[in-house]
Amino acid sequence: MKILCSCCGADYEFRYGAGNVLCAVYTQGWSSYGAALYCPKCSKTWDERNRGRPLAGPESTIGVIDELYRRSRRTRGKCL
Ligand SMILES: [Zn+2]
Repeated sequence: MKILCSCCGADYEFRYGAGNVLCAVYTQGWSSYGAALYCPKCSKTWDERNRGRPLAGPESTIGVIDELYRRSRRTRGKCL
């Protein structure tokens, strides 16, 4: 599957699986706000751009990626 940064458009492709999702969030540093994902670079500068609106924690971000994967599976004829 592929996740996309909602800020700069950077993407990150990986095979969906618990270990790889954890890696994207904890090791690489992907984060989220609402249903939007942010790459490690944009996550780092988020606080400067969005004062008083903290990013969601790792657990929420994992939930966003899981949901994205479930949605992509429901789209027929499209392999992510
Ligand atoms: Zn970004």
